Formats: sequence, structure tokens, C-alpha cells
Amino acid sequence: MQRARFVAALTGAGVSAESGLATFRDAQTGLWARFDPREIATPSAFARNPKLVWDWYAWRRERVGTVQPNAGHRALAELEARVPEFLLVTQNVDGLHQRAGSHSVVELHGNITRVKCSREGSIVERCVKCGAFLRPDVVWFEELLPADALSAAEDAARHCDLLLVAGTSAEVYPAAGLPMLAQERGATVVEINPNATALSSRADYVLRGPSGKILPALLDSVSDPRRES
Ligand code: NAD
Repeated sequence: MQRARFVAALTGAGVSAESGLATFRDAQTGLWARFDPREIATPSAFARNPKLVWDWYAWRRERVGTVQPNAGHRALAELEARVPEFLLVTQNVDGLHQRAGSHSVVELHGNITRVKCSREGSIVERCVKCGAFLRPDVVWFEELLPADALSAAEDAARHCDLLLVAGTSAEVYPAAGLPMLAQERGATVVEINPNATALSSRADYVLRGPSGKILPALLDSVSDPRRES
């Protein structure tokens, strides 16, 4: 941490778990137990039943609006200020990293608080141009990731010295391929997760525990250049 010039972080739903947002898997004991996510989060599901899809996203948007960033989000925001170069790549759609103060954020899977035209993809409050339904600006199953976000994330993986991978099961590609790309280019990969994941056996270091505890502890190991000058 002290030596790294460029630190990148890849985060997933687990980083928001301590804020009270269910992860993909926990969610299966809740609303997702009743619906197959692929029946809700796909373009064809939206074409079949936009109301069902919107009900699901309205519920999730409301949850996101009532929770607060946690110590893990705040530690990543503070880390950005302490290292020479930093990029946060997130699979989360909840905007909590930005609310915690992170500035350099790439959202691989969109943002649940935004909407876009379901036909043209432009981000507007309502589509005055073509009249198509508006939909959440998130990446659904069967959809491609935003090209600019993916290319910024891959660029960071190729050039960072250290990649922190927090709160992700590392099963959803292409995000799950970023740690391997970073390692191939010589970066050190550190996993932060209370449970074993698809990445655990390949990571250079595994820190077992909740990100709300581990990330602030890691931050303590990096001195604050603003205090030294
Ligand atoms: P996932 O549900 O597949 O995996 C969550 C991971 O977080 C697990 O490995 C789990 O062990 C770990 N975890 C649980 N509590 C943790 C904690 N306190 N600290 C650190 N780690 C913890 O989530 P994923 O890998 O992000 O992939 C699922 C997909 O679902 C993503 O595409 C994401 O966009 C979407 N999603 C987003 C949100 C959100 O924005 N908050 C919530 C649910 C799902």
C-alpha cells in the first residue's frame, strides 16, 4: 500500500451489505426468491412486462435512498486522497461510493437512480424523442457493459500496482476477469471478503472479514500526504 503509485479497487454488492443493502445471494431469501433475476433483469422481461420490472426497481431505488454509506465506502474515498493515482471500479448500482466522497468511480453496471430511454439508450427523465418506455440505467443480463466504463476498468487493471477486490463473488464477467488481467501485468491482487470466492485461490493476499472493518484498517497503513506537508 505504501509503495503503490496506482491503486485500483474493484467492488461488488458485499461492500454495501453493511449499509443494509442485500447482496445478490442474500436477496434470494427475499424478493428474488419469488422471481428468477433473469425474469426481471433482462431486456426481454422488460418488453414482456415493464410494470413488473419497474416495481422491482422502484423497490430497490427506495431502499438505496434510505441507506447510508458505511465505513468501507468511506475508507475507499479517503484512500483516493492519499495515494498518487486511484480508480474505483464498481459493479454496484447504488451510488454509495459517490455519496461517501469517491470521485474517480467507474460504474460497470450502471446506476439504479438514473433512467434511460429503453429504445435509444439516451439518459433523460423521459423520452421526448421517440416516446419509448423509460427503464433503469443498469446493465441487465444479456446486455453489454458500457464500452467506455469497461475500457477504463481494463486500462486501470493493466496499469495499477495494487488491486483491492472487495465484496464481490467474482463470478460475473467481464468484471471478474479484471483481477486476472491485473495479475498478468504484475499487479498485486488483494481480496477482501468474509467468504471464499472464485478469486480466493488466485489472489496474492486474502483478508477475511467484512469490508467495513478491513478497508479502514488497510487505510491506517497509508500515511496521509496532506498531513506530512
Ligand atoms: P454477489 O452477491 O454475487 O457477491 C457478494 C459478495 O459479497 C459475496 O462474495 C459475499 O461473501 C461478499 N460479502 C458479503 N458481506 C460482505 C461484507 N460485509 N464485506 C465484504 N464482502 C461481503 O455480488 P457481486 O459480486 O457484486 O455480483 C452480483 C451482481 O449484482 C453485480 O452485477 C451487481 O451489479 C449486482 N448487485 C448490486 C447491488 C448494489 O448495487 N448494492 C446489490 C445487489 C446486486
